Amino acid sequence: MMAAPSYIPPTDGIGNPPSEVWASAPSLEALAACIQGCLACPLGPGRFRLVFGEGDPKARLMFIGEGPGKEEDQQGRPFVGKAGELLDKMIGGIGFKRDQVYIANVVKCRPPDNRTPTPQESQTCLGYLKRQIELIDPGVIVTLGATPLRELLGIQTGITKARGSWQRLELHRPIPVMPTFHPAYVLRQYTQEVRGAVWADLKAARAWLEEHP
Ligand code: SF4
Repeated sequence: MMAAPSYIPPTDGIGNPPSEVWASAPSLEALAACIQGCLACPLGPGRFRLVFGEGDPKARLMFIGEGPGKEEDQQGRPFVGKAGELLDKMIGGIGFKRDQVYIANVVKCRPPDNRTPTPQESQTCLGYLKRQIELIDPGVIVTLGATPLRELLGIQTGITKARGSWQRLELHRPIPVMPTFHPAYVLRQYTQEVRGAVWADLKAARAWLEEHP
């Protein structure tokens, strides 16, 4: 087997790993290694840790959020704060453990003050996420909130309208996508209606997986 091409992080200001390297990374480990020094968008210099994503590298169920918050930036792991605790409960509610799914974000570096990543930042980072999805090859993706829906699928409709309706991500193959609310939103709007909507979306994702073993 050919050795994976190696990448040396840039040392001269804003830089970007060569696309021919990350786009053909043969494994998640190789992809993570090749983008560790990324400074391709304005979020790079402000991060403490790049948050690549984590979980079962062959997960059938993948969750995609917006970007790392403060605790995620400190720990280098996605969804570890209060929203992460709720996501763990959501995952458990449909019969999975956290390490049986894969969790990632649209951007891998923390936006300052937890603001929404700009379209330019998101689009700059998106190639890494797409390669990550190709390597994991999940059966179903659940997107969390408006940002992954907009940036990954180009759907501008607000999440309140878009959630609960199946979408399709055209990548190496078509992948069904179930949009639902971001756990941080659920914590802010902890109503029966919002929680019921998320529960319905997650059950739909689980049912799809059960019907397509
Ligand atoms: S957010 Fe993505 S594109 Fe921007 S610096 Fe971090 S890894 Fe690179």
